[in-house]
Amino acid sequence: MAIDVNSKVCGSRETRIGSITGYSGTLRDIGEQIACSGCPGEKKRCFSQAAGCASGCALAQASEINDVAIVHHGPSGCAAIARVKPAFELLAGAIGRDRSHFAYTCTDMNEADTVFGATDKLKETILETYRRYRPKAIFIGASCVSGVIGEDLEGIVDDLKGEIDIPIAPIHCEGFKSQIWASGFDATYHALLKYIVKPPRKKTNKVNIIGFTAGMAWNTRADIIRMLDVLGLEPTFLLAASTVEEIEHLSEATASITTCSTLSSYLGIGLETAYGVPFVRSLQPHGIIGYEDLARQLAKVVDREYEMEAFLQKERAIYLPEIEKIKEQLAGKSAMVAMGPNLGANIARVLQEFDMKIEHLTAWHFDKQYDDGSRPKALQYLIDNSPNDFTYAVNHLQNFEFMNILNTVRPDIFVSRHPDSAIWSMKIGIPGYCVYDEYNVFGYKGTLRFGKTLLDLILNRSFTENLSKHVRLPYTNWWMKQQPDTFLIKD
Ligand code: SF4
Repeated sequence: MAIDVNSKVCGSRETRIGSITGYSGTLRDIGEQIACSGCPGEKKRCFSQAAGCASGCALAQASEINDVAIVHHGPSGCAAIARVKPAFELLAGAIGRDRSHFAYTCTDMNEADTVFGATDKLKETILETYRRYRPKAIFIGASCVSGVIGEDLEGIVDDLKGEIDIPIAPIHCEGFKSQIWASGFDATYHALLKYIVKPPRKKTNKVNIIGFTAGMAWNTRADIIRMLDVLGLEPTFLLAASTVEEIEHLSEATASITTCSTLSSYLGIGLETAYGVPFVRSLQPHGIIGYEDLARQLAKVVDREYEMEAFLQKERAIYLPEIEKIKEQLAGKSAMVAMGPNLGANIARVLQEFDMKIEHLTAWHFDKQYDDGSRPKALQYLIDNSPNDFTYAVNHLQNFEFMNILNTVRPDIFVSRHPDSAIWSMKIGIPGYCVYDEYNVFGYKGTLRFGKTLLDLILNRSFTENLSKHVRLPYTNWWMKQQPDTFLIKD
């Protein structure tokens, strides 16, 4: 199960670590199953709606790097999932970085290519992309089509070595290989570890911070820099607006930390396995409990626990009285959470910190463990500390399932992390909160901001209620009364 950074591919989450996309039960039940048998059984669906493709996540991650080009080797329809976010353009501008060498191109494979292959087309596209944009590295994004016809991406990398003097890295994110889009994160991080990260020449005081949005909003970057300064450390924010040069030096860092272990476990464990960079296995820094756990565990790595404790106490004095006031108003309100498995568990814990009642948690997939065999810490914390058992479901964004659950539970608020899911709750009159930027809930300040927003949304319902009166749902009353696991095949 150990990560081999030199292997050609990293494999899917299903095959490597037994992750699943189908389950319906309760938090305690899934906790007992992983404690006893080590694995909740995968329940297949006899009907499913469209779900995300792993290459979308893989290439979205690679697209965050400032000075690279992505050559998507597939039909142009696959490239339609490209998530090249203007936000990263803005972030790069805000922190004074040049993103003009970034490019996303596609080989536009057609029917003839599926018969005769398209390696010449791929080579030409790589060369032209390099000539036009001069990136510092090129990623080749695989697709179902390039995978099914067995295109030799590594052979093409070898062929081009004499012509292009930058790393060219295949990302094996063929959509058919995994139902879990998080497998795409691993495919990209495997490519970084294999082709970009260099062995360390010296140790630095850098901390690799692996997250989705790199603290784009609310000036969170400044808060993180301030916290790390207490420990004599400096951040390398990954991957948004990062550079190839920064990634080359990840092996020299003092430690790696993360805002989401679903996203980052492969890179964190890979850097630890290959280069001895400690991966801090704390709760994620959401809410008071998560933030303090991360801060204390990181302080332990550099032996500065006393300094960190003094810093935390000072910050507590500023923010906790206000957080307590919000808590009084939120206490007893109910919530349903639907997100990726790790952020979902973290956000559910934060809601419980406000004395809110979790009625249901849906995870877009389920990891019982990571590549080092460790249990996801946020999930285990929730299992051990949740004041109530609640229903727990796993579905890869099966809208019809979570809409059924949402309509049954009818919480005071629905908290998700994908804008397209948050809008659905509003269609049935339930306020929805999309925690898109995970730094929204970072530290004491983020927790206070999160609580205030929750309260605003719960108390100001008129927009949601009016909207729901004018929406015609695609789901019938009949479906809303069925069991949400109707289409999961029973043992
Ligand atoms: S890689 Fe496969 S699953 Fe993904 S968008 Fe292309 S055809 Fe669809």
